[in-house]
Amino acid sequence: MKEFGYQRVYDVADAVAVLDGDPEARFLGGGTNLVDLMKAGVERPGLLIDVRHLPLDRIEVTGDGGLRIGATVTNSDLAAHPEVRRRYPALAQAVLAGASGQLRNMATVGGNLLQRTRCGYFTDVARPCNKRLPGSGCPAITGEHRNHAILGASTACVAVHPSDMAVTLAAFDAVIGYETADGAGELALRDFYLPVGDTPHLETALPPGALITGVTLPPAPVAAVSRYRKVRERASYAFGIGSVAAALTVRDGVVADVRLAFGAVASRPWRAAEAERVLTGGPATAEAFAAAADTELAAARPLPDNGYKVTLMRNLVVAVLTELAEEAGR
Ligand SMILES: Cc1cc2nc3c(=O)[nH]c(=O)nc-3n(C[C@H](O)[C@H](O)[C@H](O)COP(=O)(O)OP(=O)(O)OC[C@H]3O[C@@H](n4cnc5c(N)ncnc54)[C@H](O)[C@@H]3O)c2cc1C
Ligand code: SF4
Repeated sequence: MKEFGYQRVYDVADAVAVLDGDPEARFLGGGTNLVDLMKAGVERPGLLIDVRHLPLDRIEVTGDGGLRIGATVTNSDLAAHPEVRRRYPALAQAVLAGASGQLRNMATVGGNLLQRTRCGYFTDVARPCNKRLPGSGCPAITGEHRNHAILGASTACVAVHPSDMAVTLAAFDAVIGYETADGAGELALRDFYLPVGDTPHLETALPPGALITGVTLPPAPVAAVSRYRKVRERASYAFGIGSVAAALTVRDGVVADVRLAFGAVASRPWRAAEAERVLTGGPATAEAFAAAADTELAAARPLPDNGYKVTLMRNLVVAVLTELAEEAGR
């Protein structure tokens, strides 16, 4: 592992200035992903700027009834917060579906958003990988890709984004706040993660040197009846092979509002906008849920070994929306 420096920062402006002045510096949240990648030789920073002592560790209800979540809030604190559990239960469930208690105690919101893919070729520096080394190739396409993307992938990369939390943030139209040496900015989550295209190494639209300062969730009454369901190969401590974040409002048997996003099937959290469009104003029945899932999944382009994800996602959508429809009717 390359030798590196370590510096704590206590002020957002300082954090940004230190990074701006050192091209080899990287922000350090909980370190649960970055340090692993350093050990593997994938990341080789010269300086780690520890952001955990910045005053960004609060969760506040906004004036309009949304939530503002600081970037250094730990995953454990996020999942336990009463307003998160009451207003956006799927968000708390998604966070609790990830990693382990110890990891969630360390991991931060900012680091969770920027965690890298778990594709085994990406973390093996002896193998080519377009995401790690642009232009070197993508061995996953003809190799091990059971857990890889079925939606929105490209011939350059078929990896999936690993975050559970980000899937729920996509369903609820989160906005990511950041700070750079040039000032503050915001990105809607739908624009935050870039489509993979032929540049899989470019993952987000964050400007260079940006410090994530927080996430704002706009008010969403529909989110009060919401759920995150994740399928994984082990019952705990495993990344998803498919997941759904969903929220549903039903009036007189008709879908009045619906939110749907998929995880572990694309290079970024996948907002199922086509399915939402088909469902809205229609009957809240299992048949309608299945038809909506089929509409969304018509865009799926599975590889030889991951076609099972199409069926898995269809079944997940029907199961989760059916449960929410029952809950909404109670
Ligand atoms: C065994 C294991 C199992 C896991 N299982 C799951 C799972 O099932 N689901 C899931 O979603 N996740 C899972 N994770 C991943 C875990 O959630 C992430 O490692 C964690 O969320 C990253 O947060 P962190 O604060 O530790 O980030 P770090 O490792 O500190 O940083 C990650 C990246 O974010 C950057 N960064 C950090 N904070 C900021 C900031 N404020 N502004 C700008 N850049 C920043 C860093 O420079 C780095 O590039 C697992 C991890 C492990 C090790
Ligand atoms: S799928 Fe993406 S991350 Fe995995 S080997 Fe191919 S280019 Fe690299």
